[in-house]
Amino acid sequence: MRQRLAAFLRGRYGPDDLGRFTNAVCMVMLILSLLRPLKFLYLPALLLLVLTVFRLLSRNYAARSRENAWFLRTKGAVTHGFSGFVMRTVGSGRFSRRTPNLIFACPSCGQKIRVPKGRGKIEITCSRCRTSFRKRT
Ligand SMILES: [Zn+2]
Repeated sequence: MRQRLAAFLRGRYGPDDLGRFTNAVCMVMLILSLLRPLKFLYLPALLLLVLTVFRLLSRNYAARSRENAWFLRTKGAVTHGFSGFVMRTVGSGRFSRRTPNLIFACPSCGQKIRVPKGRGKIEITCSRCRTSFRKRT
């Protein structure tokens, strides 16, 4: 039986990134389709499953590789675009700058002083009372 299966699968394209992705999406859709309001997902999930199996068993390596390459490019662009978007959004926020900062309180007056991180041991001069103190950043 195992040998038969192996013989059947020989020369087939098999799973790739796109295959794993469509398979995962398919499973999620099938599970969601168990919920009454999401019943409509059942049919597209089945179609996706058929597509996944079709690609898995396909002998047309060139076409399947092209699809996978396209998928990886798209995924890369989406991931890149998304992280770029997150960086822009977070980076423009007032809590985060391009260089992470540390905040120290002046030992004599309690004034909060923002210092760039990763500079090693530096001398900080308080902007209010001019007291200087050393801190590791
Ligand atoms: Zn001070």
